[in-house]
Amino acid sequence: MSAAAPVSDTGSKGTLLIVDDTPANVSVLFNFLNNEGFKVLVAKDGKSAIQRAEYASPDLILLDVMMPGMDGFEVCGVLKGQDNTRDIPIIFMTALADTLDKVKGFSLGAVDYVTKPFQHEEVLARVHTHLKFRRLQQQLRAHAQELEKRNRENEQARAAAESANRAKSVFLANMSHELRTPLNAIIGYTDLLREDVPEMAPDEIVGDLEKIQTAATQLLNLISDVLDIAKIEAEKTELHLVELDLKALVDEVVTVIRPTLGHNQLAVNCSPESGKLYTDPVKLQQILLNLLSNAAKFTPEGTITISVERTESHVLFHVADTGIGIAAEHLDMIFRPFSQVDSSSTRQYGGTGLGLSICRHYCTILEGAISVTSEPEKGSTFTVSLPLNLHA
Ligand code: ADP
Repeated sequence: MSAAAPVSDTGSKGTLLIVDDTPANVSVLFNFLNNEGFKVLVAKDGKSAIQRAEYASPDLILLDVMMPGMDGFEVCGVLKGQDNTRDIPIIFMTALADTLDKVKGFSLGAVDYVTKPFQHEEVLARVHTHLKFRRLQQQLRAHAQELEKRNRENEQARAAAESANRAKSVFLANMSHELRTPLNAIIGYTDLLREDVPEMAPDEIVGDLEKIQTAATQLLNLISDVLDIAKIEAEKTELHLVELDLKALVDEVVTVIRPTLGHNQLAVNCSPESGKLYTDPVKLQQILLNLLSNAAKFTPEGTITISVERTESHVLFHVADTGIGIAAEHLDMIFRPFSQVDSSSTRQYGGTGLGLSICRHYCTILEGAISVTSEPEKGSTFTVSLPLNLHA
């Protein structure tokens, strides 16, 4: 029982420690207080008093002033100086005439005194008063702690709500930007085509139609991302598990991503012997495509590598790039929904900040994990680890 624990855990009225070197005094007090229903411990000198107080955490100490070796004042000083005994109330036992002792006792932190020879009723009244006082103090302290805890929780909830609100505003600004850019392209090129088609060469027309198509595809991707996140947040994501060939899966992903890599080289390390994996292929493809398209987006000109590694129980997919990299302090936040390292309106790279958050959710659903290592200006490596055999 610590000093702050509630008074008495034994069904008794409380635990009292009597410290006195005079056997006759001890015996009188012991019998009387024991009969009153207290659990009574005894120490015959200062040193053992301190040990017992530390060990047994009594609810109250009755402490003799005059003792050979360490006297009561010294013992009181030690007990009040230690965290685990500081709160135990001490009542000094002193001779009737020793006013100076009483004053000194109070100045050292004692709560009261009783005078020898003992008046039983007086001792009992003082013990009860201080135990009651201590119980109230402990209740007050517990209330204060509870209040403090609630305040902290409220404060955390408020901060989380504020941060979510900010993220939502940033998201809306980004979404508007992301919607406006391709929509403007679509409107601009359709306008142009409507007016100029009669004079345009078929090649030119096809070129403009392709731009319209690209913009429309971007819009569709954006809306798919938002729908995915909405589904994840509503916990409505369904899994469709199949056994798939790792090499075939990676080849498919590479076929889709290759045309979008710009000036970047693509290296693929996945042998035909990579084997099988039992998981949801659509989710896994989406994870890898997200990582690869990020790698391409954040690598102006360099190399993007996808490697597959197999362990006893897991498959690891590494998507590495030699791009702009990510500062250490941003590594955590990039997995949060709507979070981007650069969320300014003038940011250089498109996107909504949803891709990695979707990746992380999907990894969790597939009972795997995603991690990243990165160095600014050098590049990043994202690693997805999935169990070889996911049991639905
Ligand atoms: P988006 O790419 O749509 O902004 P993501 O959730 O995919 O959203 O990525 C969040 C942020 O993480 C990006 O805005 C970017 O700042 C950072 N990031 C992700 N992948 C890379 C990468 N390969 N290299 C550098 N930064 C990256």
